Amino acid sequence: MKDLTRRRILVTGGAGFLGSHLCDRLVDRGDDVLCVDNFFTGTKQNIYHLLERPNFEFIRHDVTFPLYVEVDEIYNLACPASPIHYQFDPVQTTKTSVHGAINMLGLAKRCKAKLLQASTSEVYGDPEVHPQREEYWGRVNPIGVRSCYDEGKRCAETLCFDYHRQHKLRIKVVRIFNTYGPRMHPNDGRVVSNFIIQALTGQDITLYGTGTQTRSFCYVDDLVDVMIRMMDSPDDFTGPVNIGNPGEFTMLELAEKVIALTGSKSKISYQPLPSDDPKQRCPDISLAEKSLQWRPNIQLADGLKKTIEYFKDQLASTSG
Ligand code: NAD
Ligand code: UDP
Repeated sequence: MKDLTRRRILVTGGAGFLGSHLCDRLVDRGDDVLCVDNFFTGTKQNIYHLLERPNFEFIRHDVTFPLYVEVDEIYNLACPASPIHYQFDPVQTTKTSVHGAINMLGLAKRCKAKLLQASTSEVYGDPEVHPQREEYWGRVNPIGVRSCYDEGKRCAETLCFDYHRQHKLRIKVVRIFNTYGPRMHPNDGRVVSNFIIQALTGQDITLYGTGTQTRSFCYVDDLVDVMIRMMDSPDDFTGPVNIGNPGEFTMLELAEKVIALTGSKSKISYQPLPSDDPKQRCPDISLAEKSLQWRPNIQLADGLKKTIEYFKDQLASTSG
């Protein structure tokens, strides 16, 4: 017979980097987890270990099409997150954010479910306000190469708040800042995975621009922790709320840290800066601290060590 006390939780994009860690945590907590993914950037390998768990289920599905299931909570993560992947098919990226949000919000409305939207620091664009607070409306180029992602995510936020105002839907919007850790896609071109793989294989470290642009990196375990706290917070706290680690580093500092931690002999090679690349990014997390009683715990050096170990194992298993 069906267990009526178990929460039925849908995770879209659940076979991706963040989604698979979130599924791990929810399955371990005892929830009934339904993972939906079209494997555009996610992999079977990320969720393989979960397939034998009785409270985990997987459906291959593209969220730009309607989905008919019965659930209590939805974590809407489906969307490629790295610039290389979201720029590969920009029209599909916008559709995934916008049609995906419409479909998942419609599902939440029918099921009276609560929906958490994985938004992004990219809604602030190339910001003139530093660090970024939730009140800041952002500076996004609407017609550039990053716009399919940035504007798609901004529109998804709009849809969440309109469903909330118009249909009283329970929504939770988190603006995720750069996150890293095991299961990042090795070829997605994100800076942490690129630098670690280059350092481990003795290739040049590709530093774009002068390397003075900044980012703030959060380890995946800290991020999953706050996503779950946000979903479980009182209904009147909708966000948007910044989640990430406010420790801010230049890309040159990151390259030097990775070289030191891997003991690599790789040299830094300066490459052209991609267009619309934000010059600085750092979350103001005071709202998350106050409303969710959360602060990230894992320092960059510790998180990098764990991520380096993961990529070492990956490289060993593919070369063996
Ligand atoms: P990811 O690319 O590893 O995961 C995204 C997942 O969504 C993949 O498994 C992919 O196959 C799936 N997907 C893509 N399009 C889909 C579609 N149309 N239908 C069904 N599934 C689809 O990226 P990630 O880093 O795990 O990011 C997860 C979410 O968090 C994304 O929404 C992203 O925008 C957001 N986010 C991530 C970061 C970060 O630093 N990792 C920062 C800000 C926001
Ligand atoms: N970057 C870099 N070398 C790389 C990949 C990225 O210098 O091999 C830089 C990139 O220009 C950006 C920062 O690192 O300034 C973060 O890039 P990423 O693609 O990881 O994330 P995002 O730009 O979306 O924050």
